Amino acid sequence: MTAATQSPIRIGIRGRMFVAIGLIVAVMTAAGFIAWASYSSLSSDLTRVADVNLPSVTVAARLAEQGGIITAEAPALASAADEKERSRAWQRLDAAIHRIEEMLVAMRSQGAEERLRGRLAGRLDALSSNMRALDEIVRRRFWFAERNRVRTEMLRWLHADFLDEIEPAVADARFNMELALARVSGASGQAAQPADDKTLQIEADRQVALLRVNAAGNLTVGLIARAAVLPDATALDDALLFAGETIERMRHDLKSLESVPGILSLRQTVDEIVSYVSGENSLFDLRREELKTVAEGSRLVGDNLRLVGQIQEDIAAHVAAVEHESLLAAKRSQRNMRQSNLLMLGAVVMAAVLAVLVVWLYVGRNLVRRILALDASMRTIAAGDLTVEVGTEGSDEITGMARSLRTFRDTLSDTQAELVQAGKLAALGQLSAGIAHELNQPLAAIRSYAHNAGLLITRDQTADAAANLERISALTDKTADTINHFKKLARKPAKVLTDVDLATVASDALAILEGRIRNENIVVDNRLAGERHLVKAGAIRLEQVLINIFGNALDAMQGTAQKILTVSAEPSDEGVLLVVTDTGVGIGGEDISQVFDPFFTTKEVGEGLGLGLSISYNIIKDFGGTMRVTSDPGAGTCFRIFLEGHTG
Ligand code: ADP
Repeated sequence: MTAATQSPIRIGIRGRMFVAIGLIVAVMTAAGFIAWASYSSLSSDLTRVADVNLPSVTVAARLAEQGGIITAEAPALASAADEKERSRAWQRLDAAIHRIEEMLVAMRSQGAEERLRGRLAGRLDALSSNMRALDEIVRRRFWFAERNRVRTEMLRWLHADFLDEIEPAVADARFNMELALARVSGASGQAAQPADDKTLQIEADRQVALLRVNAAGNLTVGLIARAAVLPDATALDDALLFAGETIERMRHDLKSLESVPGILSLRQTVDEIVSYVSGENSLFDLRREELKTVAEGSRLVGDNLRLVGQIQEDIAAHVAAVEHESLLAAKRSQRNMRQSNLLMLGAVVMAAVLAVLVVWLYVGRNLVRRILALDASMRTIAAGDLTVEVGTEGSDEITGMARSLRTFRDTLSDTQAELVQAGKLAALGQLSAGIAHELNQPLAAIRSYAHNAGLLITRDQTADAAANLERISALTDKTADTINHFKKLARKPAKVLTDVDLATVASDALAILEGRIRNENIVVDNRLAGERHLVKAGAIRLEQVLINIFGNALDAMQGTAQKILTVSAEPSDEGVLLVVTDTGVGIGGEDISQVFDPFFTTKEVGEGLGLGLSISYNIIKDFGGTMRVTSDPGAGTCFRIFLEGHTG
């Protein structure tokens, strides 16, 4: 074992594959993580939009709805004609305020809703107190209206009293005046006196004054009654001024009527009427206060509208903020998705590139190439070429296998050299035995013939001696032939293929084994004699093959009763099929599949090396032919050798 085979494998195939696949898995995991992160961000954005923004917009819409109710009902409250209308409008407003309060309580205490709630809470307080004030104003307006009605009613009664008092006074005055007129004109039957003219004048003035008081009283009552429904303070002031002037004139006329009987009661009535102008019963003051209340109500309705408007603005700002937030979330999600899509695409491409690099560069160009090279080296070694180079680059398991193969090749080379040496010795032994066997008989005959020739010469039987010497000469030629044959077989065989005559090669091979054939009583049925089959081969190597096959047949027939060796040939396709059969023991069971394997032998140690058929097989293969064997155990064996060539 060399030092190289002991060097440690630093990072093996498993480690490298682990790193490569680990890298791909890491990249794919990163892609998965990116997908997860972006989807969870998208999901949280969507959840926020669904859980916060949408309900928030819904709350805003409901708030706006309640705001609308308040906007509609506040003027209805302010202009309520009676208690029933006021109560109904107030209930609606109160319910709307309560609903808004409930919504504020239910709103979130964070984000845009929290800000809206903070703003609306202040506005709602103001709105609530505004509506209470408005309600109070409406109640006061009702009170004023009632007082107005009562005073107007009382004024009507006073007016009736006034008329009841002024009309008799006017009638009296007219009567007195008519009396005085009659006196002056003499119509009364009495002579006119100067005093009568004066009386007439006085009565006439009285009547005029009374008529003026009557007119002024009626006008004053009319002005007061009108004041109760005048629409503004200026008109009231004008009416009051006019009423004041009228009252002034009336007082002046009343003063001139002091002497009129019953005038006192009229003056009291007038005073009472005047009290509805500027006194404690003043309908002007009452109306002024009522108008102030109405104005206050209008102001409160204006405030109410302004407050509701601010609430609506807050809601609109909130909706805009939520919309903006939703829009931002949508844009953010879109951006995230785009980024993560790009990242995922990048990761997938990277993983694909990594996979291609691993499969193409490492597995394909490194692992597979080296395994194929190793496979080729193994096949070459198996084919018997031990000079092949075994590459040992790298430092993984394949390198280890290559080093082992190189060691195996070197060891095999050494072993083969030893075996060849052993084979040579064995062959030399067989050859020596053959030579000894072939030469012993002629030498013994030569010795015998020489001895007899010597005796015949001493007896002067020279003719007989010459005959003996001729026999000796013939035997010497035969011996020389045998030795030449062995020499020929021992020569290095030519690599070039020629047309070889099967019959010649077979008879030469049989000639080598002639001694054994004779001694072992083998019947040789050589059907090639007289036939002409020319095959592409090397004569010496083909003879080696036949010697081996014939030798094995002789071995197989050593213990059998029938000993027939048949050699025949026939044309086949583009060549010739040589068939050698024996009646030996045959080849049993599994052995038949191994007879061509190197070193397979069933023979005793020293008798067989198990290389004969393996070498023969390769020789026939070198000729471009094939060799097959079939056997009937106990009956015999048949070898079929196909070689390119032709018959005849
Ligand atoms: P070896 O003759 O040295 O054993 P071979 O390769 O020539 O080696 O033969 C291998 C084996 O094949 C023999 O040992 C023998 O068992 C068997 N074999 C070959 N030829 C025959 C045959 N004609 N009959 C029976 N067995 C045979």
